[in-house]
Parts: sequence; structure tokens; C-alpha cells
Amino acid sequence: MTHRAERRDSMTQRSESIPPWLETPWRRLQERRTGDRLPHALLLAGPGGVGKALLARELAEALLCTAPRSDGRACGACRACRLIDAGTHPDLFRLQPVEGRAIPVEGVRALREVLALRSQYGGWRIAWIAAAERMTSAAANALLKTLEEPGPQSLLLLVSDRPDLLPATIRSRCQRLALPIPPRAQALGWLTGQEEVTEAERWLTLAGGAPFAALKRIRSGAVDPRPELIQDLAAVAAGQSDPLAAAERCAARGAAESLQWISSCVMDMIRLRCCRQPVALRNPDLRESLQRLAAGCPPERLFHYLDRLTAGGREAQSSINDQLLLEDVLIAWHELATGGFETRGGIRR
Ligand SMILES: [Zn+2]
Repeated sequence: MTHRAERRDSMTQRSESIPPWLETPWRRLQERRTGDRLPHALLLAGPGGVGKALLARELAEALLCTAPRSDGRACGACRACRLIDAGTHPDLFRLQPVEGRAIPVEGVRALREVLALRSQYGGWRIAWIAAAERMTSAAANALLKTLEEPGPQSLLLLVSDRPDLLPATIRSRCQRLALPIPPRAQALGWLTGQEEVTEAERWLTLAGGAPFAALKRIRSGAVDPRPELIQDLAAVAAGQSDPLAAAERCAARGAAESLQWISSCVMDMIRLRCCRQPVALRNPDLRESLQRLAAGCPPERLFHYLDRLTAGGREAQSSINDQLLLEDVLIAWHELATGGFETRGGIRR
């Protein structure tokens, strides 16, 4: 679970340039570094797939590299850089959850030991915690001590998709660097230029605008779940498919993700029904199918249905019974489409 900085994976290979939306944050970090104003603890916060890990890695490498380039980035060739690439640099420690489990206190204790030692190479000692919100409270408490007594030339890099889940005591002791979803044109330009990428627009949409998340889906051979989902919704609405069978297919695709996409489609249907002018959609590539689906659904009912979906999404996170939840959602959809939908109360349990 704990180890020296791991070997690079394909998502963070040394690249010639930093993605355009990370250039400004990178420059600010460089300014702080050259001005000797780097904090002891930095929290890189923002949605998954925007490049937080890449920025953390770039910063760690730049601080440890013994012959950085004129733009401040690591050279990639010195002994320190080679050790980082091999995952064996003694002054870089990385902690991350394994197989979705929480980060235990033992991991933070090991990290504290590394930070308490003198630097092996006379420079920075860096501890990097990925998915920091996954620390147990014991782990967070142990980390708090390190945050309160940072050693000289030590840097704690916390990376988190959900900084709101970190204890306030931790958040308040870190300098936050917010990395939001980048401007779409920038993200699209970058994604289009990557190897093995086709249909960049569609995948960027599917990833909620997060370019690295889109790239990961493309390279993992992911399948766009929406066409099948729309087919199911259309068939259930037309009475050609049993809501229970459709729910089973949705559950197989993942309850939380299915609910998220049904919500996203319903939001688009509301836009299509309520706006007279051509309107920007979350799923612009599905406009025609959504228009057909929306035609038989009064906007008021769609709004109520969306409320139910939102409540359902919260339940899916606690995973009471995904199949039952999806059955309720699809039965309610059938009722909405056939005119029997109650606009009061929640999803029937
Ligand atoms: Zn170097």
C-alpha cells in the first residue's frame, strides 16, 4: 500500500509540454518556488481527470531534479530524475488507497518517518498522498501532527477529487490549489492531439469535460453507455420493454452511472421542451433521440422525475439495493411516458 513513488503509468509519461489549462497553475507554482514561497503543504483540489496527479508529479520532479530546465521542469536525465522514473527516489514517498480501500494510519506513520529523516540527497523531501479524502480518521489525525510540525524543505502534496470530505483541520493547514474543469475548447484541442484518440468530442462529454478522464476511457476501450440507455428508455416509454428487465440491464452497467446518465438525459429533455431557441445540451450528439423521447413528456413531469432521480442518486451512493432502486426509477419513467406518473412523493420503495 505504501511505496516509493511508483513507476510512471501511461497517463503521466514525461511529455514535451504541460497541458494548456495547467500552464497557469504551473507558472504560479514556479513563481512561488523561485521566490522561496512554497508552502509546507499543498492541496491540489478539483474533479477527477483534470490533471491533478500530473501537476503533483511535475512539481515533485522539478523539486528533486538536480539540473532543471529553464522553464523549471525536471530534465528527465539526471540521477534524481532516473531514480524517480524507476520509482526508487528515497526522498519521494507516495501514499494512495489500494483497491478502493481507505488509507490506513500505518501508511501515514510510514510517511511521517520518511519526512522525519534527513534528505538523502540534501534537497527536498516530498510526501504525496493521492485520493487524500480516503484517509481514515486515525490516518488524518496522524497527518495533522506532521502538518503542525513540518520539517525544513519538506513538502506534503495532498491530491483530492473530494476535498470537502477531508477534515477541516487538515484543509485549513494546506494551501489549496483549485484545478477546475478546463475550458472546453482547450480540453478538446488537447484531447484531439493525443494518440489513439477518436471521437474526442463525445468522450469529453461523457467524462464531464475532464480531459484525462476522457483519455482514460478511450484507452481502456470503454463503451458509451448512453445509446443503449436511450434505447431502453424509449422501449419502456413505448411499452415495448418491461421496466424490470430494463432495470436489470441498467444495474449491470452500474447503478450510480446509469442514474447519472438518465438524469443527464432528462435534464436535456427539459431543456429541449422548455427552450424555444436552439439550446446547448449535455449530450449534444444525442439531440435527435432525446427530442423524440421528450416529445411525449410534459416539462412539469420531467422536473418532478428529475427530483426523484436526484434522490435516487443519493441512495445509489449508499447502495441499499441497486436493482430495486433502478426498478422504481424505470417504473416511474414508464408511468411518466404513459401519463400515470404521480408528481408527489419520492420513488416508491
Ligand atoms: Zn533531472
